[in-house]
Amino acid sequence: MPSLSGKIALITGASRGIGAAVAVRFAAEGAHVILAARDVKGLEATDDAIRAKGGKATLVPCDVRDSSLIEDLARQVGERFGHLDIVVGNAGVLGELAPLADITPDIWAQVMNVNLTANWQLIRCFDALLKKSTAGRAMFVTSGLSETALAYWGPYSASKAGLDMLVKIYAAENAKTKLKINLIDPGEVRTRMHAQAMPGQNPEELPLPEAITDIFVKLADANLKETGKKFYVR
Ligand code: NAP
Repeated sequence: MPSLSGKIALITGASRGIGAAVAVRFAAEGAHVILAARDVKGLEATDDAIRAKGGKATLVPCDVRDSSLIEDLARQVGERFGHLDIVVGNAGVLGELAPLADITPDIWAQVMNVNLTANWQLIRCFDALLKKSTAGRAMFVTSGLSETALAYWGPYSASKAGLDMLVKIYAAENAKTKLKINLIDPGEVRTRMHAQAMPGQNPEELPLPEAITDIFVKLADANLKETGKKFYVR
């Protein structure tokens, strides 16, 4: 039997890249996947790939920065399924690579709101539903840049460093619950974000998102013991 048979999984940023690949993999492992992102065509393309393998998805076009949409989604998931088994906080933006003094308030807010605040909103709105699962699992996609002070990566790195702490604190708060909460550093992956960040690098040298989904399945497993840890794909 597939390892995620019957599980309900929410994945943000599932319209392309890593989130789309994780959604397709989770569906192939038997989960019903709820796909959140803004780009409807991208969500439909992920849905097509899921259906082609016999899987099932629910599409939720939304901007994760809109807290009322996250609240509505949690209410709808509660009404329809009564619980949530897995949440993958993956949606992310790069912002701009520039000296901190040149970053505009708009770029700063966009990066913090998508990469950090939206993941706290996921925790706030879905915590109760995750606790209704027999084996609630939460995983959040961070970056090697959360631990490396590289010039010009200010907003992105600060947002991911904040995410690391947010997730570790959520895990600490749940040390005595069934919830398992972890971070994933995916390494460099062939996606639109990576091409934007490193336009000079040959994408052919990088793994496709489909090649890094094993760790997501491992952290979604009902028998997982680890919590509050960062897992590296390298
Ligand atoms: P990507 O291809 O650019 O995908 C980013 C995803 O985030 C898209 O589905 C996008 O969907 C979604 N997103 C962005 N803003 C959103 C918003 N306001 N509301 C809802 N969804 C939003 O990038 P990726 O490389 O797959 O990135 C996925 C995660 O991996 C990110 O957290 C990133 O920081 C992390 N990461 C990637 C690499 C790498 O080498 N690729 C390395 C380290 C960490 P819409 O545009 O449709 O909304």
